[in-house]
Amino acid sequence: MSSIDPTAISRPRSPDLISGYHLEKLVGSGGMGEVHKATQLSLGRTVAVKLLNPELAKDPSFIARFQKEAAALAALSHPHVVSIVDKGKTDTTYYLVMEFVDGPSLRELIRAPDLNVPVALRRMLEICRAIEYAHGRGVIHRDLKPENILLDQQAGGIAKVSDFGLASFLADASPSSRYALTSTHVSMGTLSYMAPEQRVDAKNADARADIFSLGVILYEWLTGEVPLGTFDPPSRKRQGVDTRLDAIVTRCLKPDPDDRYPSVTALIADLEILVPGSLPSLLPTKQTRMQRFRQGVRKVVNRTLQVAAVLLVLAAAVVLGLALLRGNQPSRARPGVAIMSDLGTASSGSGPGRKETGAEKFTVNLGDGPDAMALLVTGRPIQFEGKALVYPLVDEQPRVGRTIVDVVGFEGDILSLSARVRVDAQPPSWERRLRTALKLDSPAPDPVAALLLTGSTGRYVALTYNGAGEPMALEWVLGERRGAMLGLASPEGEAHLELKVDAEGLLQGYVGKGKDQRAIGEPLNLGPGWMEHFGNAPVPGFGCNEGACRAEGFTYIVRKSPPPGTTAPVVVPPMARPVVANAVPAKAVTPKRPPPPPPKKQPVKPPPKGGKRR
Ligand code: ADP
Ligand code: MG
Repeated sequence: MSSIDPTAISRPRSPDLISGYHLEKLVGSGGMGEVHKATQLSLGRTVAVKLLNPELAKDPSFIARFQKEAAALAALSHPHVVSIVDKGKTDTTYYLVMEFVDGPSLRELIRAPDLNVPVALRRMLEICRAIEYAHGRGVIHRDLKPENILLDQQAGGIAKVSDFGLASFLADASPSSRYALTSTHVSMGTLSYMAPEQRVDAKNADARADIFSLGVILYEWLTGEVPLGTFDPPSRKRQGVDTRLDAIVTRCLKPDPDDRYPSVTALIADLEILVPGSLPSLLPTKQTRMQRFRQGVRKVVNRTLQVAAVLLVLAAAVVLGLALLRGNQPSRARPGVAIMSDLGTASSGSGPGRKETGAEKFTVNLGDGPDAMALLVTGRPIQFEGKALVYPLVDEQPRVGRTIVDVVGFEGDILSLSARVRVDAQPPSWERRLRTALKLDSPAPDPVAALLLTGSTGRYVALTYNGAGEPMALEWVLGERRGAMLGLASPEGEAHLELKVDAEGLLQGYVGKGKDQRAIGEPLNLGPGWMEHFGNAPVPGFGCNEGACRAEGFTYIVRKSPPPGTTAPVVVPPMARPVVANAVPAKAVTPKRPPPPPPKKQPVKPPPKGGKRR
């Protein structure tokens, strides 16, 4: 483990922000804020201070989420759960003080070349025991993933579960709970580790959602890949893996929670047999009568909800049918889906721009430059105003448009697409107002613009923005990998958006520029060789759904990372790296694993329903 770099990112910060603590250096940052290594002055000991991002501290739901994390940690005292020391408030934000775990996260360990299976299984047991304990105390983690497991090097590399920011309490899982989260915020988890039922309805997912995440973590630890569709069993992917692990992983990953292990205790019982020298759980957590009663009640409630959901779907189908009959309704599909849908035949156009092709770097600017850039325009017409590509307001259909920039011949594995984007809503016509008032029509949907990366037919990534406070979203359809992730709220007016992919295949959306740039949500990890997921080399574009949309400073840059073995400097500039918890370490590590095979050849089952988040 000593070969692993620590996660630390050294950046000094005002040391006196929190009285009683001296902040020393930034060690991590994620969707909620920053974590600093600090000294607790009263005891002279090292601690970790997690500061809620001051912008988010203006939002009561994020404050609630932060308080909830403190409450969850306070309820738990276990050798494999990060312990809480204190919490408090400054003038501008809230903070949590935790024990400082000196070591890498499981993400870095998984990236390390040499896997020691017995050690991995022992660590996995530790994580399971922490979650078994949390479940026994009524806490479901709901965001288990390698980034949230820390390995304490001081204590011989033992695992500590952290980041209970999305945790729920069994006892107060009702929507009226003091800490209830809106689905928008819950959805900031990472889809790859999320149980199918949690993707659909995070609030009602129970402890078995954590068991699914544990299965994904174990699979990834053993094979280096997250399980997708019909995955190969771990023993087939890596030599020397006990075939009994195949059954364990498969049972954790069953799409229907009823088919999974009924409890983490049951999972531990199966896992323990395979871990040499592991002590059986000393305190088999027999469920208390209260817990059994609660589980019974939950089962009945879940069944009732399932029936209600079926009835709701039927009712929705009827309503949808009626709406279709009435016609003239705006598209309610997710904006990325709408923009990437079949919009008819493309017409070729052109616009001003600049194209530069070097040996290692390709750049395209649209809107400003001496070259005529070839464009493929589908759906709504576009025009250029000054240096901006504009979808002007249109009264009639079509309401959706997409423009793709012709960049054939661009090759590379590091990519950035950015633009200053703005959208404006269409003022409703008197007819529409009347129809809305008479409830014949619903109000016009908010306009949405999207930065697009498109590949072969049907494959794309869209970063969507509505300019009216709705969450920005990353949507992707890349063969069998598809989903959507809601992120930060769209700033009002204009925003600088950027989509980046690094050589390791981490795809991330950002808002803002320079030092104010912030990750919109969590990154999507496509892995090295990520271009394969697009089929053809990705091509940039801009889309608009409703209203007026404009993109200024539209810039697309593709670079090639240095071939393995060379010591050329890292190509991604510092600001281009994600500022999130699970950012890849600064060094572009030579891929240890072969790139994934082309998506077409994989045995593909449709992904679990519910990849949708909106
Ligand atoms: P977020 O909710 O923003 O994802 P996390 O609690 O996961 O925040 O923390 C982000 C990162 O900060 C972690 O990935 C880890 O690198 C670091 N970190 C968090 N808690 C600790 C801790 N107790 N000790 C050391 N580093 C920590
Ligand atoms: Mg985290």
